[in-house]
Amino acid sequence: MNTQDFVSIEDQYGAHNYKPLDVVIAKAYGVWVEDVEGKRYLDCLSAYSAVNQGHCHPKIIQALVEQASKVTLTSRAFRNDQLGPFLKELCDLSGYEMALPMNTGAEAVETALKLARKWGYEVKGIPRHKAEIVTVAGNFHGRTISIISFSTEPGYRDPFGPFTPGFVTVPYGDAAAFEAAITPNTAAISLEPIQGEAGVIIPPPGYMKRVREICDRHNVLLMADEIQTGLGRTGKLFACEHDGVQADVMVIGKALSGGVYPVSAVMSSAAIMGLFKPGEHGSTFGGNPLACAVARAALRVMVDEKLAQNSAALGEYFLERLVEIPSRHVKEIRGKGLFIGVELKPEAGGARRFCEALKERGILCKETHENVIRFAPPLIIDRPTIDGALPAIREALNLK
Ligand SMILES: *Cc1c(COP(=O)(O)O)cnc(C)c1O
Repeated sequence: MNTQDFVSIEDQYGAHNYKPLDVVIAKAYGVWVEDVEGKRYLDCLSAYSAVNQGHCHPKIIQALVEQASKVTLTSRAFRNDQLGPFLKELCDLSGYEMALPMNTGAEAVETALKLARKWGYEVKGIPRHKAEIVTVAGNFHGRTISIISFSTEPGYRDPFGPFTPGFVTVPYGDAAAFEAAITPNTAAISLEPIQGEAGVIIPPPGYMKRVREICDRHNVLLMADEIQTGLGRTGKLFACEHDGVQADVMVIGKALSGGVYPVSAVMSSAAIMGLFKPGEHGSTFGGNPLACAVARAALRVMVDEKLAQNSAALGEYFLERLVEIPSRHVKEIRGKGLFIGVELKPEAGGARRFCEALKERGILCKETHENVIRFAPPLIIDRPTIDGALPAIREALNLK
């Protein structure tokens, strides 16, 4: 079967809830993927930052294979010998006291929302079922009904109501607007330290710090969604560190498993996480030994290979080189670490055609919203690989 055969069969039998580039990947290693025609591409999306450690990292695959032949699933009805060590290693690394493992990012966000509401009732004393959670315009936290209930993206939300109540929206990057939206019933604010899906939107310097102060002043929880920004992507282990801030509740996923297996987690203090009592929350697969073994290996790779540091250094280098490229289509180039957005002018005709042109030249990027090309390669990338990609990027950014 060739590319067109795979595209046809997928489009005939699969729901069309994505609009992928027509490259059919059959193999991947490190920063590279290979399609069914044997053509090699530089991956500049990293599965939305899930493969920060690089594709098929040998140490993570080894952990997967070894654990798969021992025990894969116990359910949480019983204990397993991977869960405890995983939780401890994750807490030691992130500076939180407790963690709750789930599978996908959206599930972990839902978990955090439940936790914030319960905290609102039990600790803050908000009247039952009156808790409000402040969210920000342009947010992306996943695809469940409750999460899309506070999306500001019509395409994510409109055809799927009725919506879950209890959410309030304020502009992103505007701490004063957040403070003005707080009521006695406000339990939490939920935000991404840098908005990924919105197009690599970096808030004004000190925003997270001001949000942290406002949360402290009004007894409101700060919930940071670091599913995409966390685990080295922005040049720090967690993006909140850029502002020297620790959230009360942090949600991570994606690169927590190096892209090998769905693993997510909610991190918090013992006081907050301790609010969950037996039976109040759960997941059949959450915390399974295969997931835990994979995540332990993925975290070790993150630390041993100094991927956050590499992201900071190579991100700065990549950004500098991109800014040097002359292009009449580019409006702005911004980034932190290896999390870079190239925003095109409205008249450039949309980012999609540039992503198609990059693909033709051996570089895989995906348009983010209409006008942004995101460059987010695996964090193991090196200078020669970036240098090797620049001529193709230069060509693509200078389409007619
Ligand atoms: C990807 C993502 C999610 C959702 O994660 P899934 O695993 O797709 O459910 C939530 N928040 C952010 C910031 C993300 O990037």
